[in-house]
Amino acid sequence: MKQLCSRQVHLDFHTSENIPGIGARFDPQDFANTVKEAHVNSMTVFARCHHGWLYYPSERFPELVHPHLEYKNLLLDQVRALHKKGINAPVYITVQWDYHSASTHPEWLIRKKDGSHEGGPFTEPGFYQSLCVNTSYWEFLKAHTAEVCELLGDELDGIFFDIVGIRPCWCASCRAEMKKLGIVIISRQGIRV
Ligand SMILES: [Zn+2]
Repeated sequence: MKQLCSRQVHLDFHTSENIPGIGARFDPQDFANTVKEAHVNSMTVFARCHHGWLYYPSERFPELVHPHLEYKNLLLDQVRALHKKGINAPVYITVQWDYHSASTHPEWLIRKKDGSHEGGPFTEPGFYQSLCVNTSYWEFLKAHTAEVCELLGDELDGIFFDIVGIRPCWCASCRAEMKKLGIVIISRQGIRV
């Protein structure tokens, strides 16, 4: 069993598609040297961010690679550069916040009892329109996670799943399952639905 690292950094990296030149000046050695000099012994690097973009050359989901990712092998080269310095590099995957998925798959959204979704309107900045993992989104999440595992193989130190919560949901998929399980849903008007 691995010892818990004493100096861990969570590299938060949520990058809108409106930002150009992602990783354009990335230098793996400079990156790893900086981390080493800071005496950090674990740094979380990122496979998929809250905007829904990927930072590796995905074969299964090429349309989800950040449109301005200039350093194509960013994830893998971050991991390898850190490993060369003896630094752990677990991989970050967002779960319930993903703006691209939320805006292109309304059937994946968590629904409140009145049918509205969580978070602000899609016309406003932010990525808080949470996804329900009890929908076919689950299949995407599994395939994406499997791809990351295959990409890194033995080089994978672990996965950091972010934004994972047990939340009430009245989406079509959850309502169908509740019906199947005999769970009674009462509308705001007191009507059994
Ligand atoms: Zn649901």
